[in-house]
Amino acid sequence: MLMAVAILFSAATVFATNGTNPVSDTTKTKKVKPVKVQYTCTMHPEVLSDKPGKCPKCGMALVKKEPAKKKAETMKM
Ligand SMILES: [Zn+2]
Repeated sequence: MLMAVAILFSAATVFATNGTNPVSDTTKTKKVKPVKVQYTCTMHPEVLSDKPGKCPKCGMALVKKEPAKKKAETMKM
């Protein structure tokens, strides 16, 4: 049991280290667009936030708003 936990932990650590690597990131420039995620309230679409939080109007948790992308391209068949 302990072994499994240790393996899981180390795997998670490696993954986290790979995800955030500011040192090597400066050497090679990746063409990765920063995904602009916005959070909105399901009840109040006019409420927009760039980070998760709560709706100032009703206090509901804001949900991630997916950028409107054309889905037609995936329906080529
Ligand atoms: Zn709301």
